[in-house]
Amino acid sequence: MSIQHVAILGLGLLGGSVGLAVREHANSISTTGYDRDADVRGRAAALGLVDEVCEIPADAVRNADLVILCVPVGAMETAASELAPHLKPNAIISDVGSSKESVTKALTNALPAHTIIPAHPVAGTEHSGPEAGFASLFTNRWCILTPPLDVDETAVAALSDFWAKLGAKVEIMDAAHHDLVLAVTSHIPHLIAYTIVGTASDLEEVTRSEVIKYSAGGFRDFTRIAASDPVMWRDVFLNNKGAVLEVLGRFTEDLTALQRAIRSGDGDTLHDLFSRTRAIRREVIDQGQDDERPDFGRKDHS
Ligand code: NAP
Repeated sequence: MSIQHVAILGLGLLGGSVGLAVREHANSISTTGYDRDADVRGRAAALGLVDEVCEIPADAVRNADLVILCVPVGAMETAASELAPHLKPNAIISDVGSSKESVTKALTNALPAHTIIPAHPVAGTEHSGPEAGFASLFTNRWCILTPPLDVDETAVAALSDFWAKLGAKVEIMDAAHHDLVLAVTSHIPHLIAYTIVGTASDLEEVTRSEVIKYSAGGFRDFTRIAASDPVMWRDVFLNNKGAVLEVLGRFTEDLTALQRAIRSGDGDTLHDLFSRTRAIRREVIDQGQDDERPDFGRKDHS
C-alpha cells in the first residue's frame, strides 16, 4: 500500500506541521487541507502549509490515500462523519489526537466501514494555530500508533513508514495503555501547571503583578505549559477521564505524604524524593527527550 496523497483536516499547529513536514521530508507525497475556520484556511494557504487548501472537506479527502484528522479530540467524530461519502474505499483514516480510546470510538462510530488507525505524535508546543506549525516538529519524537486488533497490517506498515519519513520514531501500543502512559507523562503535568498558575493568580496576599514581576524559573516553566490551548486541553481531560482520575488519585496521595513530611520536619523523605527525581531528569535527557537548554531550544522555532 503506497501513500501518494494525504488530506489534513484541521490546519493548526499539528495539521500545519504535518503539511510542512511532508513537503520537507517526503515531497513526492501531495497534500490537501481543510479547516472549518475560513480565516485559518486563508492563513494556511498564505503560509503554504499544504499544496492545496480546499473550501469543503469533501474536496480535501476525495483523492487521499491517508486522511489525518488534526482537530481537538472532542471534534473528531463530527469532523469524521462529514467525510464518509467522499473517501476512497481503501483510504487509511488516522488522527493526531492526544487521547486514543475515545478517538478510536469516535472514528469507528463515524466511519465504520473504513480502515482506522489512530495515532499520536508525542510532539507539540504551547502554541496553536497555523502560524505555530513547523516542519521539524516530529524529528526524533515518538509517534504512537494504536491500531485496533483486526486492522490490515499493510495499512499499519504504510502509516508507520509515513511517520518515519517525517522523522518520528514509531511505537505501536494498545489505546488504553497509551491513555494511561500519557495521563502520567503529559495530561497530569498540564493539569498541575493549570492549577498552580491559577492558584498563584488567585492569591490575595500577593498581587497578580508581583506574581508576574517576581516569577522565578519554576513558575515561569509552569506558565509556559499553562498557556496551552484551552479547547484542546479541555477536550483531553473530558476524553481521558478514567486514566486521568486514576493517576490524579495517586498523585494526590503522594502530595499528602509530602505535606506530612514538611509538617513533621521529615527532611529525609524530602531529600530522598528530590534525589530520585533528579536522576529521572538525567534519564530523560540521556534518552533525547529533552536537552539542557531552557524551553528545549523551542525559541529557535518561533
Ligand atoms: P490547533 O492549533 O488549535 O488547530 C486545530 C484546528 O482544527 C483549528 O483551526 C480548529 O478550528 C480546527 N477544527 C476544529 N474542528 C474542526 C472540524 N470539525 N473540521 C475542521 N477543522 C476543525 O490545535 P493543535 O494543537 O494542532 O491540536 C490538534 C490535535 O492535535 C488535538 O487533537 C490535540 O490533542 C493533538 N495534539 C496536540 C499537541 C500540542 O502540543 N498542541 C501535541 C500532540 C497532539 P477552530 O479554531 O475554529 O476550532
